[in-house]
Amino acid sequence: MNMKKVFLLTLAVVMIVSLFAGCGQQTNTGDVETLTMATNAAFPPYEFYENETIVGIDAEIAGKIAEKLGMKLEIIDTEFGSIVAGVQTGKYDMGMAGMTVTEERKASVDFTSSYATGIQSIIVTEDSVIATLDDLAGKKIGVQQDTTGHIYAADEFGDEMVIPFNKGADAVAALKTGKVDCVIIDNEPAKSFVQANQGLKILDSDYAVEDYAICIAKENTELLEKVNKALEELIADGSVKAIVDKYISAE
Ligand code: GLN
Repeated sequence: MNMKKVFLLTLAVVMIVSLFAGCGQQTNTGDVETLTMATNAAFPPYEFYENETIVGIDAEIAGKIAEKLGMKLEIIDTEFGSIVAGVQTGKYDMGMAGMTVTEERKASVDFTSSYATGIQSIIVTEDSVIATLDDLAGKKIGVQQDTTGHIYAADEFGDEMVIPFNKGADAVAALKTGKVDCVIIDNEPAKSFVQANQGLKILDSDYAVEDYAICIAKENTELLEKVNKALEELIADGSVKAIVDKYISAE
């Protein structure tokens, strides 16, 4: 073989090898598994839109969990009331939406360890006659559809007194125009809505302290274990607290 042949042969080998290497890389990136998270991105500071992107406490914690699992996070915005069923039927890998752990939901899905606490709050107009929880009797109550606030309000004051809205912000808008007399919603979104709107206040009489957790299909025990492990590590090393502090200023 002359030098030219040796050179060409070497070149050919190098090209073939790099071609395969290139393929390998491409397949690898394509193979990164996606972790789909269903949420309702109208629940600040847990999940909300910043321009076109869904951000917030849940979005960031989920991002860190996906990172630990070597997966790519995909957040899907849907109605709150369809999250549990979607997770149960395998449409989504997990649900993370400031979601309270309840016995009723536990009949359909499993929950991870809790990563946050929520308290049901009552928002009224500054000039409202409503001062305590007892004053809600006979009043029109705005709630976010299918949330624990909706369930409590209907149980305690009667379904006919409750007006459900798709988003908490819509319930708050109805309060401002007098369509409802108060809004029952989780404390952090309540604070954020009161801050964003003039003439509203939150009553002192908070009730129902709840645990937020991630829900996963009952048969998907492998994912539940992996997500739980990642979440517990993120709680233990202070990552969850750092994310919460970033969105909720210490009082
Ligand atoms: N914590 C409430 C629930 O689980 C509300 C959650 C939400 O509106 N995103 O029902």
